[in-house]
Amino acid sequence: MSDEGYCTAAGVSEPPGTDGPPFAECVLCREPTEYPESYRGITMCPRCEWQEAQRSACSG
Ligand SMILES: [Zn+2]
Repeated sequence: MSDEGYCTAAGVSEPPGTDGPPFAECVLCREPTEYPESYRGITMCPRCEWQEAQRSACSG
């Protein structure tokens, strides 16, 4: 029996400490949003999105 038969991932090993893909910043408060950094458009954190929704709903 030999252990050399096992296929080991000898490729790129991600460094520990990364919590997933980079997220875009909120355009209002610069907090990390749920959108990826490659997202095209306005990125807002859930809180700011909610506030904007409230603001637009109450306008008038
Ligand atoms: Zn925000």
